[in-house]
Amino acid sequence: MKKIVSVDLARRVRDLPPYLFAAIDRMKQEAVGKGVDVIDLSIGDPDIPTPKHIVRRMKKAVENPQHHRYPSYEGMPSFRQAVAGWYKRRFNVTLDPKTEVLSLIGSKEGIGHMPLAFINPGDVVLVPSPGYPVYPVATLFAGGESHIMPLLERNDYLPELKAIPKITLKKAKLMFINYPNNPTSAVAGRAFYKEVIEFAANNNIIVCHDAAYSEIFYDGKKPLSFLQIPGAKDVGIEFHSLSKTYNMTGWRIGFAVGNAKAIFGLGKIKTNLDSGIFQAIQEAGIEALGTEEPVLEKIRDIYQERRDVLYAGLKKIGLEAGKPAASFYLWARVPKGFTSSDFVAHLLNNAGVLGTPGNGFGAPGEGYIRFALTASAKRIKEAVERIGKVL
Ligand SMILES: *Cc1c(COP(=O)(O)O)cnc(C)c1O
Repeated sequence: MKKIVSVDLARRVRDLPPYLFAAIDRMKQEAVGKGVDVIDLSIGDPDIPTPKHIVRRMKKAVENPQHHRYPSYEGMPSFRQAVAGWYKRRFNVTLDPKTEVLSLIGSKEGIGHMPLAFINPGDVVLVPSPGYPVYPVATLFAGGESHIMPLLERNDYLPELKAIPKITLKKAKLMFINYPNNPTSAVAGRAFYKEVIEFAANNNIIVCHDAAYSEIFYDGKKPLSFLQIPGAKDVGIEFHSLSKTYNMTGWRIGFAVGNAKAIFGLGKIKTNLDSGIFQAIQEAGIEALGTEEPVLEKIRDIYQERRDVLYAGLKKIGLEAGKPAASFYLWARVPKGFTSSDFVAHLLNNAGVLGTPGNGFGAPGEGYIRFALTASAKRIKEAVERIGKVL
C-alpha cells in the first residue's frame, strides 16, 4: 500500500497573518475574467523599463566566463566601491566598502534576514504599521515579537517613540523605519532622525532604515539619508534598492550600508544561506549607480506628472489624500461608510479600478486606500473619471 506523508506546516508558517494581497489578486482575476478593463493601481512595481545603458552592460557581462562562477558573498569589491562612490556623491557620506557595504539579492532579502542575525526568541523588534509586511514576518521567522509602532496622520506618519513602554524597550533589539514611506508616502526630516539616533543609543537598539524610495522624489526635493545625521553609523544601517530607482525590480539587487557590526551580522547569515548575486547583475548594478542625472530626472518627471494628475483628480472628486513629496504612492482616506476592504471591492466592481486596502499594511492603515503611480497618466486620468462616477 502506498504511504503518503502528512507533516504539518511549521508553527512559524501556520502563524503567518492572512495574506490579504492574495485575496485581492483573486478578485482582480475574477473581474478580468468577466472582461472588465481593470486599471491596476495596486502594484508597487514600476511599469517603466530598465534604462537601456544598464541592459547593454548586462548583455556584455553575461558573456564573461569569470561571471559564470560563484560570486563573492559580500559582493564584488568593484560593486561595493561603486555603492560607496554613489553614497558619497548623493549624500556626502563616506563608507568603507570593505566593512560598511554589503550587497543584497534585493533589499527585501536583507530586511528579511536581519532579525535572524540579532533576534533571539522573546526579543522584540519595533515595527512601523501600516508598513512593509516583511518587517513583522521576518521577526516572526526569527522567533521574535513585533511591537507595533502606529504611523498616524496626526503625527505626519512618524512613530511616537515616547509612547513605547519601558518594559518593551528592555527587550527591543531592532527597529525598522522606512522613509520615504510605503504606503503613506510620508518623508522624514532631520529632527526625526536625530530623535531616532538618540533613542537607539539610549536603549541599545539597532536602527534599520529602509530607504527603498530615496530616489523617487518630487519638485526637486531630495530625501535625506539616515546616515547623513551625525551618530547614525553608531546605531544603524540603511537598506537601499536598485529596484525602484532604476526600474530593476526583476533583477534582484540592492545593498545595506552603515554600522560595521550590524553589516557583519547580516553578512554572517547570508554567507550561510545564499551565495551572492550573479556577478553580471552586479556589473549592471555598477552601471546603474553611474546613471547620468538627466536619465533619472526623466523617470521622476513621469512619476511627477502622474502624481499631479492623480492628486488633483482625487481632490476634485472629493477624495482626501496627502500630496506625496516622494515615493510612487498616494495614500487616500476612504469615504465615510466604507472600510478599506469595502472600498477597494466597490471600486473594482463598479469602476474597474484596483487600489490596495490600507489595512493590508497593518491595522492602523484601516480607513485608507493606497494608489500606486505605476500606470500611465492617461490611464490614471481615466481611473479618476471612473471613480468619480461611483462615489
Ligand atoms: C519595494 C520595496 C522594498 C524591496 O525592494 P527590493 O526589490 O527587494 O529591493 C523594500 N522596502 C519597501 C518599503 C519597498 O516598497
